[in-house]
Amino acid sequence: MGSVEHKNMPRLVMKFGGTSVGDVERIRRVARLVAAERQSGRGIAVVVSAMSGETNRLVDLAQQAGQGLPPELFDDEYDVVVATGEQVTTGLLALALRGMGIPARSWQGWQIRVASSSTHGSARISDIDADEVAAAIDAGEVAVIPGFQGVTEEDRITTLGRGGSDTSAVAVAAALKAERCDIYTDVDGVYTTDPRLVPKAQRLEKISYEEMLEMASLGAKVLQTRSVELAMAKRVPVRVLSSFVEPGEANPGTLVCDEDEIVEKQIVSGIAYSRDEAKLSLKGLQDNPGVAADIFGRLAEANINVDMIVQAPSRTEGAVNMTFTVPEREADRALALMSAAQQQIGFEQVEVKKDVSKVSVIGVGMRSHVGVARVMFDALSRKGINIENIATSEIKISVLIDSSYTELAVRALHTAYGLDAA
Ligand code: ASP
Ligand code: MG
Repeated sequence: MGSVEHKNMPRLVMKFGGTSVGDVERIRRVARLVAAERQSGRGIAVVVSAMSGETNRLVDLAQQAGQGLPPELFDDEYDVVVATGEQVTTGLLALALRGMGIPARSWQGWQIRVASSSTHGSARISDIDADEVAAAIDAGEVAVIPGFQGVTEEDRITTLGRGGSDTSAVAVAAALKAERCDIYTDVDGVYTTDPRLVPKAQRLEKISYEEMLEMASLGAKVLQTRSVELAMAKRVPVRVLSSFVEPGEANPGTLVCDEDEIVEKQIVSGIAYSRDEAKLSLKGLQDNPGVAADIFGRLAEANINVDMIVQAPSRTEGAVNMTFTVPEREADRALALMSAAQQQIGFEQVEVKKDVSKVSVIGVGMRSHVGVARVMFDALSRKGINIENIATSEIKISVLIDSSYTELAVRALHTAYGLDAA
């Protein structure tokens, strides 16, 4: 491999997740993909995750050693332990690259200075000082950077929260003013819906930031939600593509970009679903100002995320029914909280239903097209699926249904919006 050295050459960030760097053989393949991009005249920064399973192992070790410690004595050293998974991968990849004759070095989070908040375990990046790395990259060296890591003002090591490497990669791309951030993963792109559920799902060529954000927060696990938020804020084009290919093989992936760059806009781009939902209903609730604030204040204080909220008149004169959803794993806690406060809040009874799913259709085209909701309700009613709750945003319609119909609903909607592959 000859030396590559240009002034003003475009920079590219390539990010590889845990399965893509799961063993040394895979790390070698990553090195080959990096070499090929470098050969095309780009300055390269590679952001890597820990080898698959490694973060879990480290979390477990920290929990064993720190058993019973309060957060103020645990969280900072937890970060010291779990941040090492990524350090290992950076060194291994730098070695593999050097073995191919490519100049490369690792830069730990504290060395570049990925400055972060001091919220250990879920820190947020505040600033990246990329000057020195940028100079090394422009001189032809590949910079290998750990995802997930940050450093506080007091020089303490932090981590960004599980799945945080995607966010690191986008932040590095923004700091380097890279032309794109390529996220290599174990799927070959973003699909119209979960291909395991719907074999006729199609890979999207492009998707807007807004739609991707909805998809990510609705359960499509391709990218960490925060990474999409950051990409949107900094206008970093992100491409999601497969890491299980050799250089030169077709690997178009999906480009997550500005809406304006998508010429052929679909009205609906994707269907997302989540089974991790539970519905709580407070029946015969007194209809006074401050009641909703009381209910949702209690849930917020307990850190329970509330999603779809519907209030409707009750059979009891002067009372209402309040229905809302929470993540299924929080259902028991939410129920206990409501039951304990029955007198103070003022309701007749509370019910919980856990076997519900949320199915959502997402598309920026909804802003300018009518009838999108009707297609959804028609398709569901033709399959005899009852809608228990509805929520909408500018680019999304979500319904809550009995979970046994999840698959049927997603398939019916995929067909109804013309998303099925030929
Ligand atoms: N290694 C970290 C995790 O497993 C960060 C990441 O891979 O995104 O959560
Ligand atoms: Mg990941």
